[in-house]
Amino acid sequence: MPEEVLVNVKESIQRAPNTNQSILGISHRSEWFKEVVKETENNLRVLLNIPKNYHILQLQGGSTLQFSMIPILLLRGKKKTAEYLKTGYWSTKSIPDAMREGKVKVLYDGENTHFSKLPLPSELSYDPEAAYFHYVSNETVEGLQFHYLPGLKDGVPRVCDMSSDFLSRPFEVQNFAIVYAHAQKNLGPAGLTAVLLRDDLIHDAPDNIPSMLNYKNHIDMGSIYNTPPVFAMYVTMLVTRWLLNTVGGLEKMAQINERKAQKLYQILDLHPGFFQSHGEKKDRSIMNVSFRLPSIGLERKFIGEAEQAGFYGLEGHRSLGGLRASLYNAVTENDVDQLVDFMTGFYNKNKQFTIGTQNVSNSLQL
Ligand code: PMP
Repeated sequence: MPEEVLVNVKESIQRAPNTNQSILGISHRSEWFKEVVKETENNLRVLLNIPKNYHILQLQGGSTLQFSMIPILLLRGKKKTAEYLKTGYWSTKSIPDAMREGKVKVLYDGENTHFSKLPLPSELSYDPEAAYFHYVSNETVEGLQFHYLPGLKDGVPRVCDMSSDFLSRPFEVQNFAIVYAHAQKNLGPAGLTAVLLRDDLIHDAPDNIPSMLNYKNHIDMGSIYNTPPVFAMYVTMLVTRWLLNTVGGLEKMAQINERKAQKLYQILDLHPGFFQSHGEKKDRSIMNVSFRLPSIGLERKFIGEAEQAGFYGLEGHRSLGGLRASLYNAVTENDVDQLVDFMTGFYNKNKQFTIGTQNVSNSLQL
Protein backbone atom coordinates (compact mmCIF):
# COMPACT_ATOMS: atom_id res chain seq x y z
CA MET A 1 0.00 0.00 0.00
CA PRO A 2 1.23 3.52 -0.72
CA GLU A 3 2.37 5.26 2.47
CA GLU A 4 -0.15 8.09 1.99
CA VAL A 5 -3.01 5.57 1.83
CA LEU A 6 -1.79 3.80 4.95
CA VAL A 7 -1.85 7.06 6.91
CA ASN A 8 -5.47 7.68 5.88
CA VAL A 9 -6.45 4.09 6.63
CA LYS A 10 -4.96 4.34 10.11
CA GLU A 11 -7.09 7.40 10.89
CA SER A 12 -10.22 5.80 9.49
CA ILE A 13 -9.91 2.82 11.84
CA GLN A 14 -10.58 5.26 14.69
CA ARG A 15 -12.94 7.50 12.79
CA ALA A 16 -13.78 7.57 9.12
CA PRO A 17 -13.78 11.09 7.59
CA ASN A 18 -17.01 13.06 8.19
CA THR A 19 -18.41 10.38 10.48
CA ASN A 20 -18.26 9.46 14.14
CA GLN A 21 -17.64 5.84 13.37
CA SER A 22 -14.77 3.49 12.68
CA ILE A 23 -14.58 2.30 9.08
CA LEU A 24 -14.82 -1.23 10.50
CA GLY A 25 -18.36 -0.62 11.73
CA ILE A 26 -19.94 1.60 9.10
CA SER A 27 -23.06 0.19 7.47
CA HIS A 28 -22.81 -0.82 3.83
CA ARG A 29 -26.31 0.68 3.45
CA SER A 30 -25.24 4.14 4.64
CA GLU A 31 -25.19 7.08 2.23
CA TRP A 32 -21.58 7.61 3.27
CA PHE A 33 -20.56 4.20 1.94
CA LYS A 34 -22.57 4.62 -1.26
CA GLU A 35 -20.51 7.75 -1.91
CA VAL A 36 -17.30 5.73 -1.40
CA VAL A 37 -18.40 3.20 -4.02
CA LYS A 38 -19.37 6.02 -6.37
CA GLU A 39 -16.05 7.79 -5.95
CA THR A 40 -14.07 4.62 -6.77
CA GLU A 41 -16.16 4.19 -9.90
CA ASN A 42 -15.65 7.80 -10.92
CA ASN A 43 -11.93 7.65 -10.24
CA LEU A 44 -11.56 4.45 -12.28
CA ARG A 45 -13.60 6.01 -15.07
CA VAL A 46 -11.23 8.97 -15.21
CA LEU A 47 -8.02 6.94 -14.75
CA LEU A 48 -8.87 4.50 -17.54
CA ASN A 49 -11.13 6.73 -19.60
CA ILE A 50 -13.87 4.09 -19.29
CA PRO A 51 -16.74 4.66 -21.74
CA LYS A 52 -20.34 4.98 -20.52
CA ASN A 53 -21.39 1.60 -21.93
CA TYR A 54 -19.13 -0.23 -19.45
CA HIS A 55 -20.25 -1.14 -15.95
CA ILE A 56 -17.68 -0.90 -13.19
CA LEU A 57 -18.32 -3.54 -10.56
CA GLN A 58 -16.67 -4.36 -7.27
CA LEU A 59 -17.36 -8.01 -6.59
CA GLN A 60 -16.30 -10.72 -4.15
CA GLY A 61 -14.90 -14.19 -4.73
CA GLY A 62 -11.60 -13.03 -6.19
CA SER A 63 -10.50 -13.51 -9.74
CA THR A 64 -11.11 -17.22 -9.24
CA LEU A 65 -14.86 -16.61 -9.16
CA GLN A 66 -14.56 -14.72 -12.46
CA PHE A 67 -13.15 -17.96 -13.93
CA SER A 68 -16.74 -19.27 -13.46
CA MET A 69 -18.92 -16.17 -13.81
CA ILE A 70 -17.58 -15.37 -17.26
CA PRO A 71 -18.26 -18.76 -18.90
CA ILE A 72 -21.64 -18.92 -17.14
CA LEU A 73 -22.55 -15.64 -18.85
CA LEU A 74 -20.93 -16.15 -22.25
CA LEU A 75 -20.77 -19.92 -22.82
CA ARG A 76 -23.62 -21.60 -20.92
CA GLY A 77 -26.17 -23.11 -23.32
CA LYS A 78 -24.31 -21.82 -26.40
CA LYS A 79 -23.19 -23.93 -29.35
CA LYS A 80 -20.04 -21.84 -29.75
CA THR A 81 -16.53 -22.54 -28.44
CA ALA A 82 -14.57 -20.36 -26.04
CA GLU A 83 -10.90 -19.84 -26.89
CA TYR A 84 -8.24 -19.66 -24.16
CA LEU A 85 -4.51 -19.04 -24.03
CA LYS A 86 -2.64 -21.24 -21.55
CA THR A 87 0.42 -19.16 -20.81
CA GLY A 88 1.13 -19.84 -17.14
CA TYR A 89 -0.13 -20.86 -13.72
CA TRP A 90 -3.14 -18.56 -13.58
CA SER A 91 -4.42 -18.99 -17.12
CA THR A 92 -4.17 -22.77 -16.56
CA LYS A 93 -6.41 -22.31 -13.52
CA SER A 94 -8.94 -20.33 -15.53
CA ILE A 95 -9.75 -23.14 -17.98
CA PRO A 96 -11.47 -25.98 -16.01
CA ASP A 97 -14.44 -23.86 -14.91
CA ALA A 98 -15.04 -22.80 -18.51
CA MET A 99 -15.01 -26.46 -19.58
CA ARG A 100 -17.89 -27.08 -17.18
CA GLU A 101 -20.02 -24.63 -19.14
CA GLY A 102 -19.29 -25.60 -22.74
CA LYS A 103 -16.68 -26.23 -25.40
CA VAL A 104 -13.22 -24.79 -24.87
CA LYS A 105 -10.30 -24.67 -27.26
CA VAL A 106 -6.80 -23.95 -25.98
CA LEU A 107 -5.16 -21.91 -28.75
CA TYR A 108 -1.71 -21.97 -27.21
CA ASP A 109 -0.24 -24.22 -24.53
CA GLY A 110 3.06 -23.06 -23.05
CA GLU A 111 3.39 -25.92 -20.58
CA ASN A 112 6.01 -27.88 -22.49
CA THR A 113 8.23 -24.82 -22.69
CA HIS A 114 7.83 -24.41 -18.91
CA PHE A 115 5.78 -21.24 -19.39
CA SER A 116 8.96 -19.36 -20.22
CA LYS A 117 7.49 -17.41 -23.14
CA LEU A 118 4.26 -16.09 -24.61
CA PRO A 119 3.00 -16.93 -28.11
CA LEU A 120 3.96 -14.75 -31.03
CA PRO A 121 0.97 -13.22 -32.85
CA SER A 122 1.82 -15.49 -35.82
CA GLU A 123 1.39 -18.61 -33.65
CA LEU A 124 -2.27 -17.86 -32.93
CA SER A 125 -5.16 -18.59 -35.20
CA TYR A 126 -8.58 -17.51 -34.00
CA ASP A 127 -12.11 -18.65 -34.80
CA PRO A 128 -14.16 -15.59 -35.84
CA GLU A 129 -17.26 -17.42 -34.51
CA ALA A 130 -15.88 -18.13 -31.02
CA ALA A 131 -18.10 -17.34 -27.99
CA TYR A 132 -15.23 -15.30 -26.53
CA PHE A 133 -11.45 -15.19 -26.28
CA HIS A 134 -9.77 -15.27 -22.85
CA TYR A 135 -6.21 -14.53 -21.80
CA VAL A 136 -4.19 -13.35 -18.80
CA SER A 137 -2.34 -10.11 -19.56
CA ASN A 138 0.31 -10.66 -16.89
CA GLU A 139 1.20 -14.11 -15.62
CA THR A 140 1.96 -13.27 -12.00
CA VAL A 141 3.87 -16.43 -11.16
CA GLU A 142 6.13 -16.68 -14.20
CA GLY A 143 6.54 -12.93 -14.74
CA LEU A 144 5.35 -12.93 -18.36
CA GLN A 145 3.41 -9.97 -19.72
CA PHE A 146 1.76 -9.40 -23.06
CA HIS A 147 3.20 -6.37 -24.80
CA TYR A 148 0.78 -6.68 -27.69
CA LEU A 149 -2.99 -7.17 -27.83
CA PRO A 150 -3.93 -10.78 -28.66
CA GLY A 151 -7.35 -11.69 -30.09
CA LEU A 152 -9.33 -10.70 -33.13
CA LYS A 153 -9.81 -7.04 -33.92
CA ASP A 154 -13.60 -7.22 -34.11
CA GLY A 155 -16.46 -9.59 -33.44
CA VAL A 156 -15.31 -12.03 -30.76
CA PRO A 157 -15.56 -10.61 -27.21
CA ARG A 158 -12.07 -10.25 -25.75
CA VAL A 159 -11.93 -11.13 -22.04
CA CYS A 160 -8.85 -10.41 -19.96
CA ASP A 161 -7.66 -11.32 -16.48
CA MET A 162 -5.59 -8.25 -15.55
CA SER A 163 -5.26 -9.18 -11.88
CA SER A 164 -1.58 -8.38 -11.65
CA ASP A 165 -1.17 -5.47 -14.04
CA PHE A 166 -4.46 -3.57 -13.72
CA LEU A 167 -3.76 0.12 -13.00
CA SER A 168 -0.05 -0.33 -13.70
CA ARG A 169 -0.39 1.28 -17.15
CA PRO A 170 -3.17 2.73 -19.33
CA PHE A 171 -5.05 0.54 -21.80
CA GLU A 172 -7.94 1.01 -24.23
CA VAL A 173 -11.01 -0.34 -22.45
CA GLN A 174 -12.95 -0.43 -25.76
CA ASN A 175 -10.74 -3.31 -26.91
CA PHE A 176 -12.25 -5.55 -24.24
CA ALA A 177 -15.65 -7.04 -23.50
CA ILE A 178 -14.72 -7.89 -19.92
CA VAL A 179 -11.68 -6.99 -17.84
CA TYR A 180 -11.28 -8.27 -14.32
CA ALA A 181 -8.67 -7.78 -11.63
CA HIS A 182 -8.58 -8.80 -8.02
CA ALA A 183 -7.15 -6.74 -5.20
CA GLN A 184 -4.08 -7.11 -3.03
CA LYS A 185 -1.90 -5.98 -5.88
CA ASN A 186 -2.29 -2.53 -7.44
CA LEU A 187 -5.97 -2.07 -6.69
CA GLY A 188 -6.31 -2.31 -2.92
CA PRO A 189 -6.36 -4.86 -0.09
CA ALA A 190 -7.67 -8.40 -0.59
CA GLY A 191 -11.45 -8.79 -0.60
CA LEU A 192 -12.69 -7.30 -3.82
CA THR A 193 -12.37 -7.81 -7.55
CA ALA A 194 -12.96 -5.08 -10.08
CA VAL A 195 -14.88 -6.03 -13.21
CA LEU A 196 -15.35 -3.82 -16.26
CA LEU A 197 -18.21 -5.25 -18.26
CA ARG A 198 -19.59 -4.05 -21.58
CA ASP A 199 -23.31 -3.47 -21.18
CA ASP A 200 -24.59 -5.43 -24.21
CA LEU A 201 -23.19 -8.72 -22.83
CA ILE A 202 -25.76 -9.03 -20.07
CA HIS A 203 -28.74 -8.77 -22.43
CA ASP A 204 -28.12 -12.30 -23.69
CA ALA A 205 -27.50 -13.86 -20.25
CA PRO A 206 -28.89 -17.34 -19.52
CA ASP A 207 -31.86 -17.33 -17.15
CA ASN A 208 -30.57 -20.01 -14.75
CA ILE A 209 -27.73 -18.12 -13.09
CA PRO A 210 -27.57 -18.27 -9.26
CA SER A 211 -28.26 -14.77 -8.00
CA MET A 212 -24.84 -14.04 -6.52
CA LEU A 213 -23.16 -15.10 -9.78
CA ASN A 214 -25.40 -12.94 -11.93
CA TYR A 215 -23.69 -9.72 -13.00
CA LYS A 216 -27.07 -8.08 -13.51
CA ASN A 217 -27.88 -8.21 -9.80
CA HIS A 218 -24.61 -6.50 -8.95
CA ILE A 219 -25.17 -3.89 -11.64
CA ASP A 220 -28.71 -3.18 -10.43
CA MET A 221 -27.54 -2.80 -6.83
CA GLY A 222 -24.46 -0.70 -7.57
CA SER A 223 -22.04 -3.36 -6.26
CA ILE A 224 -23.94 -3.55 -2.93
CA TYR A 225 -26.04 -6.63 -3.64
CA ASN A 226 -25.18 -8.26 -0.32
CA THR A 227 -22.80 -7.23 2.47
CA PRO A 228 -19.65 -6.21 0.62
CA PRO A 229 -16.10 -5.92 2.02
CA VAL A 230 -16.61 -2.33 3.23
CA PHE A 231 -13.10 -1.84 4.56
CA ALA A 232 -11.37 -3.18 1.43
CA MET A 233 -13.61 -1.06 -0.78
CA TYR A 234 -12.85 2.06 1.24
CA VAL A 235 -9.09 1.46 0.97
CA THR A 236 -9.47 0.82 -2.76
CA MET A 237 -11.16 4.21 -3.09
CA LEU A 238 -8.16 5.78 -1.34
CA VAL A 239 -5.79 3.99 -3.74
CA THR A 240 -7.65 5.30 -6.79
CA ARG A 241 -7.58 8.79 -5.26
CA TRP A 242 -3.81 8.48 -4.72
CA LEU A 243 -3.32 7.37 -8.33
CA LEU A 244 -5.29 10.33 -9.62
CA ASN A 245 -4.15 13.11 -7.33
CA THR A 246 -0.69 12.18 -6.10
CA VAL A 247 0.74 10.06 -8.93
CA GLY A 248 -1.10 12.07 -11.58
CA GLY A 249 -2.63 9.27 -13.63
CA LEU A 250 -1.71 6.00 -15.29
CA GLU A 251 0.70 7.41 -17.90
CA LYS A 252 2.85 8.63 -15.03
CA MET A 253 2.40 5.38 -13.11
CA ALA A 254 3.49 3.40 -16.17
CA GLN A 255 6.65 5.48 -16.59
CA ILE A 256 7.59 4.85 -12.96
CA ASN A 257 6.86 1.14 -13.29
CA GLU A 258 8.93 0.87 -16.49
CA ARG A 259 11.89 2.49 -14.77
CA LYS A 260 11.58 0.19 -11.75
CA ALA A 261 11.50 -2.94 -13.89
CA GLN A 262 14.38 -1.77 -16.05
CA LYS A 263 16.60 -1.33 -13.01
CA LEU A 264 15.92 -4.85 -11.83
CA TYR A 265 16.28 -6.54 -15.22
CA GLN A 266 19.51 -4.63 -15.71
CA ILE A 267 21.15 -6.37 -12.78
CA LEU A 268 19.81 -9.76 -13.89
CA ASP A 269 21.30 -9.20 -17.35
CA LEU A 270 24.60 -8.03 -15.91
CA HIS A 271 25.16 -11.40 -14.21
CA PRO A 272 23.14 -13.90 -16.28
CA GLY A 273 24.96 -16.96 -14.90
CA PHE A 274 24.01 -15.92 -11.38
CA PHE A 275 20.62 -14.21 -11.62
CA GLN A 276 18.76 -16.39 -14.10
CA SER A 277 15.69 -14.63 -15.46
CA HIS A 278 12.73 -16.98 -15.99
CA GLY A 279 11.03 -15.58 -19.08
CA GLU A 280 12.10 -14.61 -22.55
CA LYS A 281 13.21 -10.99 -22.79
CA LYS A 282 10.44 -9.94 -25.18
CA ASP A 283 7.76 -11.11 -22.69
CA ARG A 284 9.21 -9.76 -19.48
CA SER A 285 6.72 -8.42 -16.98
CA ILE A 286 7.13 -4.97 -15.50
CA MET A 287 5.20 -6.13 -12.43
CA ASN A 288 6.69 -9.51 -11.48
CA VAL A 289 10.35 -10.31 -11.97
CA SER A 290 10.86 -14.07 -11.63
CA PHE A 291 14.39 -15.44 -11.46
CA ARG A 292 16.54 -18.21 -10.05
CA LEU A 293 19.99 -18.44 -8.51
CA PRO A 294 22.49 -21.21 -9.35
CA SER A 295 21.24 -23.44 -6.49
CA ILE A 296 18.30 -23.83 -4.13
CA GLY A 297 20.73 -23.41 -1.23
CA LEU A 298 21.77 -20.00 -2.53
CA GLU A 299 18.14 -19.03 -3.03
CA ARG A 300 17.39 -19.85 0.61
CA LYS A 301 20.40 -17.83 1.69
CA PHE A 302 19.23 -14.93 -0.49
CA ILE A 303 15.75 -14.97 1.05
CA GLY A 304 17.15 -15.12 4.61
CA GLU A 305 19.61 -12.28 4.07
CA ALA A 306 17.02 -10.23 2.19
CA GLU A 307 14.61 -10.48 5.13
CA GLN A 308 17.31 -9.36 7.51
CA ALA A 309 17.85 -6.37 5.25
CA GLY A 310 14.10 -5.61 5.28
CA PHE A 311 13.00 -7.12 1.94
CA TYR A 312 10.05 -9.48 2.33
CA GLY A 313 8.06 -11.63 -0.08
CA LEU A 314 10.91 -12.43 -2.46
CA GLU A 315 10.21 -16.15 -2.49
CA GLY A 316 8.91 -17.46 -5.83
CA HIS A 317 5.42 -18.96 -6.09
CA ARG A 318 5.24 -22.51 -4.70
CA SER A 319 4.51 -23.92 -8.16
CA LEU A 320 7.70 -22.50 -9.72
CA GLY A 321 10.16 -22.04 -6.86
CA GLY A 322 13.05 -19.62 -7.22
CA LEU A 323 12.65 -15.95 -6.48
CA ARG A 324 10.24 -13.25 -7.49
CA ALA A 325 10.27 -9.51 -6.94
CA SER A 326 6.83 -7.97 -7.40
CA LEU A 327 7.02 -4.32 -8.34
CA TYR A 328 3.41 -3.28 -7.78
CA ASN A 329 2.51 0.41 -7.84
CA ALA A 330 3.19 1.00 -4.15
CA VAL A 331 6.82 -0.13 -4.50
CA THR A 332 8.85 3.05 -4.98
CA GLU A 333 11.85 3.62 -7.20
CA ASN A 334 13.88 4.08 -4.05
CA ASP A 335 12.75 0.64 -2.81
CA VAL A 336 13.98 -0.86 -6.08
CA ASP A 337 17.31 0.98 -5.84
CA GLN A 338 17.80 -0.51 -2.40
CA LEU A 339 16.93 -3.98 -3.64
CA VAL A 340 19.40 -3.63 -6.52
CA ASP A 341 22.10 -2.59 -4.03
CA PHE A 342 21.30 -5.62 -1.90
CA MET A 343 21.45 -7.92 -4.94
CA THR A 344 24.77 -6.44 -6.04
CA GLY A 345 26.19 -7.07 -2.58
CA PHE A 346 24.84 -10.63 -2.56
CA TYR A 347 26.35 -11.27 -5.98
CA ASN A 348 29.76 -9.94 -4.93
CA LYS A 349 29.81 -12.23 -1.89
CA ASN A 350 28.69 -15.32 -3.83
CA LYS A 351 29.83 -14.86 -7.42
CA GLN A 352 32.08 -17.93 -7.24
CA PHE A 353 28.87 -19.98 -7.66
CA THR A 354 28.12 -18.39 -11.07
CA ILE A 355 27.49 -21.00 -13.73
CA GLY A 356 28.29 -20.71 -17.43
CA THR A 357 25.46 -19.02 -19.31
CA GLN A 358 25.25 -22.07 -21.61
CA ASN A 359 23.94 -23.98 -18.56
CA VAL A 360 21.35 -21.42 -17.67
CA SER A 361 18.65 -22.67 -19.98
CA ASN A 362 19.10 -26.19 -18.53
CA SER A 363 18.81 -25.02 -15.00
CA LEU A 364 15.63 -23.15 -15.85
CA GLN A 365 13.96 -26.39 -16.81
CA LEU A 366 14.09 -27.69 -13.24
N1 PMP B 1 -5.38 -14.40 -11.88
C1 PMP B 1 -4.16 -13.87 -11.65
C2 PMP B 1 -3.39 -13.32 -12.82
C3 PMP B 1 -3.64 -13.82 -10.36
O1 PMP B 1 -2.42 -13.30 -10.14
C4 PMP B 1 -4.40 -14.35 -9.28
C5 PMP B 1 -3.90 -14.35 -7.86
N2 PMP B 1 -2.64 -14.03 -7.62
C6 PMP B 1 -5.66 -14.91 -9.58
C7 PMP B 1 -6.12 -14.91 -10.88
C8 PMP B 1 -6.53 -15.50 -8.49
O2 PMP B 1 -7.07 -14.48 -7.75
P1 PMP B 1 -7.91 -14.74 -6.42
O3 PMP B 1 -6.96 -15.30 -5.42
O4 PMP B 1 -8.41 -13.38 -6.07
O5 PMP B 1 -9.00 -15.67 -6.75
